[in-house]
Amino acid sequence: MSVAKVVVDVPSSQINHTFDYKIPEKYEALLKVGMRVTIPFGPRKIMGFVIEIVPTSDVKRLKEIEAIMDITPVLTKELLQLGKWMADQTVSLYIQAYQAMLPRVLKAKYKKEIEKLTDIELTASLKQMFAGRDFITFEEFEENKGNYAELLHALKEGYIQINYIVESKETSKKALFIDMAKEQHLLEEAFIDLPKNAKKQQEVLQYFISNPTEIEQKKLIEKCKTTPHTIQLLIEKGLLKKTLKKVYRDPFANTNFQSTTALQLSEQQRKAIEPIWKSIDNNYNETFLLHGVTGSGKTEVYLQSIEKVIKLGKEAIVLVPEIALTPQMVKRFKGRFGDDVAVLHSGLSPGERFDEWTKIQKKEVKVVVGARSAIFAPFEKLGIIIIDEEHETSYKQEEQPRYHAREIAKYRGEYHQCPVVLGSATPLLESFARAKKGVYTLLEMTSRMNEQQMPPVKIIDMREELHAGNRTMFSRELVQAIKNRIERNEQVVLFLNRRGHSTFVMCRECGDVVKCPSCDIALTYHKSSYQLKCHYCDYQIPMIQECKECQSKQIQYFGTGTQKVEESLLEVIPEAKIVRMDVDTTRRKGAHEKLLTIFQEKRANILLGTQMIAKGLDFEDVTLVGVLAVDSMLNLPDFRASEKTFQLLTQVSGRAGRHKLPGEVIMQTYSTEHYAVQLASQYNYEQYFLHEMQMRKSFHYPPYYYLTLINVSHQDELKVQEVTKMISRLLLKHLSGDATILGPTPSPIVRINNRYRYQCMIKYKDEPNQREIIRKILQYYHDDIQKNNLMIQVDFEPYQLM
Ligand code: ADP
Ligand code: ZN
Ligand code: ZN
Repeated sequence: MSVAKVVVDVPSSQINHTFDYKIPEKYEALLKVGMRVTIPFGPRKIMGFVIEIVPTSDVKRLKEIEAIMDITPVLTKELLQLGKWMADQTVSLYIQAYQAMLPRVLKAKYKKEIEKLTDIELTASLKQMFAGRDFITFEEFEENKGNYAELLHALKEGYIQINYIVESKETSKKALFIDMAKEQHLLEEAFIDLPKNAKKQQEVLQYFISNPTEIEQKKLIEKCKTTPHTIQLLIEKGLLKKTLKKVYRDPFANTNFQSTTALQLSEQQRKAIEPIWKSIDNNYNETFLLHGVTGSGKTEVYLQSIEKVIKLGKEAIVLVPEIALTPQMVKRFKGRFGDDVAVLHSGLSPGERFDEWTKIQKKEVKVVVGARSAIFAPFEKLGIIIIDEEHETSYKQEEQPRYHAREIAKYRGEYHQCPVVLGSATPLLESFARAKKGVYTLLEMTSRMNEQQMPPVKIIDMREELHAGNRTMFSRELVQAIKNRIERNEQVVLFLNRRGHSTFVMCRECGDVVKCPSCDIALTYHKSSYQLKCHYCDYQIPMIQECKECQSKQIQYFGTGTQKVEESLLEVIPEAKIVRMDVDTTRRKGAHEKLLTIFQEKRANILLGTQMIAKGLDFEDVTLVGVLAVDSMLNLPDFRASEKTFQLLTQVSGRAGRHKLPGEVIMQTYSTEHYAVQLASQYNYEQYFLHEMQMRKSFHYPPYYYLTLINVSHQDELKVQEVTKMISRLLLKHLSGDATILGPTPSPIVRINNRYRYQCMIKYKDEPNQREIIRKILQYYHDDIQKNNLMIQVDFEPYQLM
């Protein structure tokens, strides 16, 4: 007898352990750790992951596994172990962790189908089962009492394969493939025998003589500029043959990837890559921080590191932020590694995502380029993990399990004994601090490939504009600069920060912003209560009537959307042709690319947008970058507001003058003397780092202290207040005396969907028992959570403080 230990799909914190199930004899040979099964659980049948197989169980009356859902494991041993660790780290359920590692489609309904790949080697009973067909459903196999051991053997030998058929229209796509029906030398003979005037047929044959492999008919027609009719003639002559085959939906099918080869590395690239190569060659785990200015050639370092990994027969994961996963970025990896690359991003349909994932699972690719969740790619011979733009907050998942891809990368790097490379022009403060301490190995690239200076930055003081009588949101200098570019047929990128959910209050005369005296973050204006509140601690004051610095009454709250900017800009410069890119204009699939193409083809002269235009884009004729309201980033109620501003300003500035034409950057702000603005305009990361570290030290923020954010929500505001208060009290009692508890306080967004939200925050240096205490608190509220709609969210090292 064998017993399977199963993690069951029940979302309750009280069942975060495994259950034992007897493995029916018919599945003995087949069932492996990492497969999913259906099992009886109480009155229901549910799904579960098999995480261990053992000979016996202590449980008296064991229930049996009902059915298997997978024929091959969907999770490797490594991922099973990683999932457990991740669940513990984030205080989530094992089941949540495992689900998060798999493509969503695997959660949905789908069918399994067995496809026959050969007739010859199959056993008699399997042959009989297929009865001349190429496909049978897995259900049919089970109903006819098929032999699982034989099936497994055939699968291992590659005589059959299992396809997952997602129940949606667009899943299975088939295409016509053309291949040679005779050996190459016979084709050569046939070529000579073709009539002299059969030029078209000659061309197709010639193609196969020089490329003796199967090709999709559509591609063949394109390549040889031929017709289906010509191909058909050759098939009738018995020289070629056609087959209908399942193809992967390729989201980049219509993109032509020009193939590239390794560039001669520059001196600074060589210096940066050698330690990485060494770690790959010698098979040891090391985390590198590649700090390279924009345009310094980081991508080439990634590419040539991966090249080495592939040569050693190993695999690579490359993470890029979702919004940077543009065709431009994908092109660079596909161009170098061609079909060895799978791409995973949220723009794909669930079916497409699943296809890409399947390629990884079947080891048909060597490289995956993707957003956050690609970190779970089921590779088994990882040789390198690269995280580009490592400072990006999108690497943190904002729902359970709240993991950070960087931490997962480090875990997997350790497991596979391979390097982890974190790359950025503006590393996260925490990362740079670790590099300085020697926890990471720092690799620096300080000059741009084209040897050009970064474009000069001009800071415009919007207070002076006001004094000069200009009440628009565009300074005179910016308007003039835009007009010049339009005249010269050059292009402009205008950047506006994504509108914050909250509004801060600022004096337009002197630029003073009202801040919390103990937290150093901007106070948020609450219209309903006419109060200014701090969202970390509980500090609040009535809305001010005049500036406490200069007594001016020009007090304004901020928060302008891109649409409004577009309208105002057209009033000032009616001849402008604007492409606006924000969440509203890019919602539909493919809209992103379409808008960029319009700009690329110069059918517009201004690209106006939010964060999504800040990175990765590369246009030759962009010679001016304008940043409209630096202040709306600088004053978000977030202790990272200044750091995020510095990063964004550096990123957007990098969009100008990337090619031959020199670029220029104009930043508009009311806070001209702020260190983040000043140092970003000088591209001085090092100095910025030192200054910001000082700030963090004095206000007790990371990297000097760790944070844990606990967010409570419920329809009843009193209930939320009471629970949050209780949690704060429990934490205070059980954590060490070194920890500080901030709050309880209303969250920056106090109400979402009629649920009230309160929070408290733990600031600490070292609290080894923290997770255990929090788990106990969650246990304590278990019934309220299960039955009474109470929500308690715990975020370790949070990035979103809203
Ligand atoms: P980063 O990723 O650091 O911003 P990129 O990788 O985009 O920089 O490189 C900037 C430009 O320099 C690109 O156009 C790239 O093709 C080019 N480049 C990079 N490395 C080399 C090299 N070794 N030789 C020639 N050109 C290079
Ligand atoms: Zn003032
Ligand atoms: Zn405060």
